[in-house]
Amino acid sequence: MSPPSLIEAHPNLSDTAPVALSYELFPPRSPAAAETLWTTIRELETTAPDYVSVTYGASGSNRDTAVELINRLLLETTLRPLAHLTCVGNTPQELAGIIGELLDIGVRGILALRGDLPKDGVRPSDGALRYAQDLIELIRRVEQRRSALLCAGKIAVGVAAYPSRHPESPSEEHDVEVLLAKQRSGADFAITQVFFETEQYANLLTRARRAGVTIPIIPGVMPLTSLRRLTRLGELAGVEPAPALMERLAAADSDLERLHIGVDATVDLANAALDAGAPGIHLYTFNEHQSALEVLDKLALPRHSRLGTRRDSAARPQLAS
Ligand code: FAD
Repeated sequence: MSPPSLIEAHPNLSDTAPVALSYELFPPRSPAAAETLWTTIRELETTAPDYVSVTYGASGSNRDTAVELINRLLLETTLRPLAHLTCVGNTPQELAGIIGELLDIGVRGILALRGDLPKDGVRPSDGALRYAQDLIELIRRVEQRRSALLCAGKIAVGVAAYPSRHPESPSEEHDVEVLLAKQRSGADFAITQVFFETEQYANLLTRARRAGVTIPIIPGVMPLTSLRRLTRLGELAGVEPAPALMERLAAADSDLERLHIGVDATVDLANAALDAGAPGIHLYTFNEHQSALEVLDKLALPRHSRLGTRRDSAARPQLAS
């Protein structure tokens, strides 16, 4: 009989890891939006997330506000930013510059994306990075040049994954092959696009594991508390909103009832994903904290708190259970 492995012999190492918690924010488009965002940031900070991701406009249009927000998060909060970056709208030289700038201000995680193609049909110019996979490779090259700054360590590179077929992809199998290719190029983890059916995350996980994808795949869930937003999201992300959810939101009489419906639907999705083995939950917040915090209250995730104090839920309006 072989001796027990280090992991078997050390019970604490085989403990179940705490579920990771993260939020998505987008850079504000006006001073008023910035004020609301910072209220949200302070509320979310009290839940001690593992990281907050900051989106990047595919045209590169919000580059300055994105970097500014990331810088403030690093300087003024306890939060760790994960910077989104897109191929679309940037030359490889510009991207290398932005990656270097992000590393220099202290960013240690980048979500490498292609970005949505412009609606006017203008195709990327010659020499532009074509796929997220190319961006991962560029990030790894810039990282290599800064290995001393990083103490020869690596930054975390995340990518997008799709529970339902990407609008430009021929099939869900192709999406999984692309995810595998991104893993081979150096992706460390994936965050999913929004989804509305409880079984979709488990199905993606099964397809991905069967194909050889071993990186963590974190479900991205969005509390949808407005019909308008649900419809807009469907258009933007190419994801078909669940008809049952749309009907329930349309029939609701008040904002509070819509909040309740959106939160419960999100909790169901997150619980189904956790049952399927999700290693974390990523909440798309729309820069609003109330529904995200309600979801969190109802989920009761097994987590360690980095902060000594928990947030004061008495200060917020409560949903009826
Ligand atoms: P890719 O993985 O490059 O895939 C793009 C398309 O090309 C897919 O159809 C894929 O099947 C195909 N493809 C990829 N590689 C190959 C290959 N080698 N051969 C053949 N076909 C291939 N957009 C933004 O603009 N800003 C953001 O901040 C942002 N954040 C996001 C965060 C998350 C978690 C997610 C899920 C999406 C986000 N998006 C964002 C949207 C994303 O940019 C779009 O979904 C985009 O259309 C695809 O990006 P990707 O990184 O998945 O691209």
